[in-house]
Amino acid sequence: MAQSSHQLWEEFFKRYYKDAINDLAESYPEKRSLWVNFSDIEKFDPDLGRELIDHPDPVLKHANEAIVSIDLPVDVSIDNAHVRIIGLPERIQIRELRSSNINKFISVSGLIRKATEVRPKVIVAAFKCQRCDHVTMMPQGEGKFVEPFECENDVCGRKGPFKLVHEESEFIDAQKLRVQESPDDLRGGEQPQTLDVDVDDDLAGIVAPGDRVVISGVLRSFQRTTQQGKSTFFDLVLDGVSIEIEDKEFEEIEISKEEIEEIIKFGKDPEVYKKVIYSIAPSIYGYEEVKEAMALQLFSGIAKSLPDGTRIRGDVHILLVGDPGVAKSQLLRYSVRLAPRGIYTSGKSSTSAGLTATAVKDDFGEGRWTLEAGALVLADMGLACVDELDKMEADDRSSMHEAMEQQTISIAKAGIMATLKSRCALLGAANPKFGRFDRYEPIAKQINMPPALLSRFDLIFILTDEPSVERDTNIAQHILKAHYAGELAMRRENIINSGISMNEITKAMEVIQPVIQADMLRKYIAYTKRNIFPIIQDEARKHLIDFYLGLRKQGEAPDAPVPVTARQLEALIRLAEASARVRLSNVITRDDTNRVIRIVMASMKQVMTDETGRLDADIINVGMGKSQRDKIKVLKEIIRDLQKEYNSAVPLEDIISRAEESGIKKDTVEDMIQKLKTVGEILEATNERFRIV
Ligand code: ADP
Ligand code: MG
Repeated sequence: MAQSSHQLWEEFFKRYYKDAINDLAESYPEKRSLWVNFSDIEKFDPDLGRELIDHPDPVLKHANEAIVSIDLPVDVSIDNAHVRIIGLPERIQIRELRSSNINKFISVSGLIRKATEVRPKVIVAAFKCQRCDHVTMMPQGEGKFVEPFECENDVCGRKGPFKLVHEESEFIDAQKLRVQESPDDLRGGEQPQTLDVDVDDDLAGIVAPGDRVVISGVLRSFQRTTQQGKSTFFDLVLDGVSIEIEDKEFEEIEISKEEIEEIIKFGKDPEVYKKVIYSIAPSIYGYEEVKEAMALQLFSGIAKSLPDGTRIRGDVHILLVGDPGVAKSQLLRYSVRLAPRGIYTSGKSSTSAGLTATAVKDDFGEGRWTLEAGALVLADMGLACVDELDKMEADDRSSMHEAMEQQTISIAKAGIMATLKSRCALLGAANPKFGRFDRYEPIAKQINMPPALLSRFDLIFILTDEPSVERDTNIAQHILKAHYAGELAMRRENIINSGISMNEITKAMEVIQPVIQADMLRKYIAYTKRNIFPIIQDEARKHLIDFYLGLRKQGEAPDAPVPVTARQLEALIRLAEASARVRLSNVITRDDTNRVIRIVMASMKQVMTDETGRLDADIINVGMGKSQRDKIKVLKEIIRDLQKEYNSAVPLEDIISRAEESGIKKDTVEDMIQKLKTVGEILEATNERFRIV
């Protein structure tokens, strides 16, 4: 059995990495790392590989010494080169790290959640004795700064005082990271766990929050200190040796050959849309249209990069607004399980980073600024399901537009300037401000979200909870069936000789069984996102254009509102792409455009029609439709006229009666008066008497 030594590593490098080392020498010191694949070490000597894993400290030391002393054809010395080992055969889940892993060479994968600024760290501190001017060099370890106990100079030997000499000290760049388990490894809403990582020199500053990484290093433990003193508990920190940034386009989800065959079979099934829809939240009754939209969101349109550097998003954003208890949260929870890289969170925010990202100075950074990724960054290339979106923090509100449209999040605060990627689809849920939804009021008024943000959604659905005998009966029966099936299963599981057969349970479960199992559907989606890139056919293109122009034409009539904007056209295209993907089609056909026009119209009818039934895009884009704007104009005219007649402020009742003659209802008048008052266009002179400002 060979034992790690300086010589052994030299032999290894000569045999496997000669060219790589020569390359390194040529670009040294810009490049300072030799990236070594673990499998090469194993090929060279399996025992050396084992030893590296079990006793990384001496073995890595040998490797680093060997590379520095190797003979080079070019006349440089690569004193500060590092050996960075990648490709460890085994990755340990962060939640499975145990004390047995301490001081071992390990590899973890996950998402970068936080990263501090890159700042210098002293590794050898030079101290000048203030009495005799002798300089004592003190190597620094992790954590605490060590000062000399007494002057090294035998003649002096006094206890200082000492002064740090910056020019003679040695510094390297350092950064602290926090990795979070990747959402793909989590099942059923588990809270992800994290691990802190220290990196230095050329590893510092190469990753950003939201990046997907594999980090290898030596696991260290640090004793916790409490106010009472040292604790018996230890914290874990990974001493980073190498970082591999994973290509996010490349899904981690593995799909076997048999599964691909099954997927292709599904794609040809004429009932595929129905089957997919019935596989989304089967325990929730109804909402076929919403589920169909959610299905298309999961399959997603195609993101395009144009030659001028712009990028058009392919992700479909959907907002569900509605009464409490209509299963919004349940729909979100289901969708996150189906989405490759799904993240579920609440707008009320569980973390300091909220939905987008923040820069903070806190304990983690030990005085350095830390950039922390929020949900939309962590869900990059996936789906972010955000419940109670209306309750998001003010900071998020301002960065959401950019996050949804450009799919980036820019942070410029103190020393930190960064742009993080948020290329994800957003499925949001929001509750009405006043508890219940009023379908006669424009939506912007009822939920606590600015119109500019609402207009970023491709589809908005309103789920109302209006009692109806037929629907209520169906829902009730569906809920009871689901509970009954669950009861049977629980009895069988917990009671011996329950007398309940598996058959019976399967039969009872049928109503709530997805047609395509969640795991399979996830793979189906991942497969299509990787392999299917449909192109629109002429007929389908013409269909979309005609539809759009047809609607726009309605806006040409005198006095008509603007019915749709280009935003809706883009939504249609994205959805049509997704629709073609569902059946693994490489072309977008008239079938797809029919489907998506139906869905978009259904959404627009719910949220963009004024009281006369006309479509008005301003209801979403501006938060107020044309008809309401017109009424406000009329109302102001009335007040102005009355004001002239009275030659003073006008009583409310007179305004109301005059407005009613013009066909504006009393409620509306009172409402608009309030509004005009808040924006300062009218004044309440005395009680219930108003005048124009
Ligand atoms: P919300 O988030 O809209 O307030 P929830 O998702 O918390 O509502 O749903 C409340 C409960 O009502 C859930 O347990 C859900 O399963 C049930 N529920 C509501 N509507 C339906 C439905 N259409 N089918 C089945 N269950 C429903
Ligand atoms: Mg809810």
